[in-house]
Amino acid sequence: MLPEKESMGNTEEDKRSAFERHKAALVQSFREAREAGQRVRLGKRTSNLFRRRRADGARTLEVSGFNTVIEIDPVARTVDVGGMTPYDAVVAATLRHGLMPAVVPELKSITVGGAVTGGGIESSSFRFGFVHETVVEIEILTASGEVVLCRPDNAHSDLFFGFANSYGTLGYALRLRIELVPAGPYVQLTHQRCEAPETYFEALAASCGEERARGGAASFVDGVVFREGEMVRTVARSCQSVESVSSYRFMRPFYHSIRERGEDWLSIEDYIWRWDTDWFWCARAFGMERPWIRFPVGLLGGLNSRTYWKIRHVYENSRLLRRIGPGRGKEWVIQDVEIPVDRAAEFQHFLCGRIGIFPFWICPAKAYEDSSRFPLYQTDPETLYINFGFWGGLPSGAEPDAHNRLVETKVQELGGKKSLYSTSHFSESEFWEIYNQPAYRALKNRYDPEDYFPDLYQKCVLG
Ligand SMILES: Cc1cc2nc3c(=O)[nH]c(=O)nc-3n(C[C@H](O)[C@H](O)[C@H](O)COP(=O)(O)OP(=O)(O)OC[C@H]3O[C@@H](n4cnc5c(N)ncnc54)[C@H](O)[C@@H]3O)c2cc1C
Repeated sequence: MLPEKESMGNTEEDKRSAFERHKAALVQSFREAREAGQRVRLGKRTSNLFRRRRADGARTLEVSGFNTVIEIDPVARTVDVGGMTPYDAVVAATLRHGLMPAVVPELKSITVGGAVTGGGIESSSFRFGFVHETVVEIEILTASGEVVLCRPDNAHSDLFFGFANSYGTLGYALRLRIELVPAGPYVQLTHQRCEAPETYFEALAASCGEERARGGAASFVDGVVFREGEMVRTVARSCQSVESVSSYRFMRPFYHSIRERGEDWLSIEDYIWRWDTDWFWCARAFGMERPWIRFPVGLLGGLNSRTYWKIRHVYENSRLLRRIGPGRGKEWVIQDVEIPVDRAAEFQHFLCGRIGIFPFWICPAKAYEDSSRFPLYQTDPETLYINFGFWGGLPSGAEPDAHNRLVETKVQELGGKKSLYSTSHFSESEFWEIYNQPAYRALKNRYDPEDYFPDLYQKCVLG
């Protein structure tokens, strides 16, 4: 174990004062851009956004100084991080103390600021809620060029709660303090198969109830639907010792193992990043399940979400590849949606019958505390939601975006919510009915009255 409170700085430079310096420099360049009437964008080197962004001549803000862990407090069980810190850096630092963030999104390159503003979720969300529910405080650079400290109990509590699902339209998170939970060095996984969606979601809800009641060190629940009639539920528990561990970092994709095995053991790191190696299963589209491609890419350390993002970026930005590549003539349906558990079987029948992308990911989530006060992503705190993650291409129909529209309509019909990291096709009035226009407008009036940042509809739907 490490000392009681560890500042993660190198010896020459304390990270907190470095953070303050980076903050002052960023504020200055932000204000200069504003005064010059220029738009700005975050100069992040990674992204997990699936919407196309317009290169609109905005000034790129230098934010590489905000990508480190600043300080861990193992007693209070919190970590302070720069807003652009990727989760793999946070996890590596906190596991040294036997702790991990309460919810870690499954792709290494997702950053803390991105996950908080973008509705991050993972297999511990049945217990701790969405990523934004595990935040203690945030320092946010607002449109006026001021940095405000937002906490649930201070004068900026409106922005603290309003930041979730705001996607950088109310300001940029520069520093966040997030909660940590104890995590043993290993994880024991149990995979259980099921054939009927109704039984499957009942069993999933029961597992969540049992694990919540058990409390203690980290535990996890998620699942995969391989095809209609073949569903697997995985319950994983943190543990101190095991006889042997599996590894899915190289030639064997993790998702195959859950179809083949009843029980398994992984190191905690390998469990946390189990989906990163193959981008769930999406990397197979790049040939990563062909041994002659996988082997050299793996040897070069390229089996991870950062590599896949770069491949996709090249593809998206090449007119030629888009015309002749495997995506031609396809409508991309890349979506994560939350459905109340008692309507989940119905949604699954719809997905299998009308969309037909397999496998898809299942992840339960329930509010951490009884009162859910996040106005831009309101869910019922008493309800267990099921996140369905489905990512693939379907033949384009006569109507553009017909499959995505169908999904949006179904989600609304079932009382669900759709996250906004990918494409959305709502009309403006539909959108604002779902994402709480009065609350959003009140936040804009206070923190960005001149509409310097685009609004949520402009950014997430119009692009
Ligand atoms: C295939 C796929 C599957 C996914 N599955 C999951 C999942 O299972 N669980 C999960 O948690 N998430 C998932 N995501 C979504 C992901 O968490 C969100 O897209 C998240 O916003 C990405 O974070 P990022 O750090 O990469 O942000 P970016 O992609 O860089 O940015 C996302 C948005 O957030 C804004 N933003 C980024 N950083 C900040 C900041 N510091 N302050 C203010 N605004 C900021 C950006 O302006 C942008 O609008 C998935 C995404 C993909 C592509």
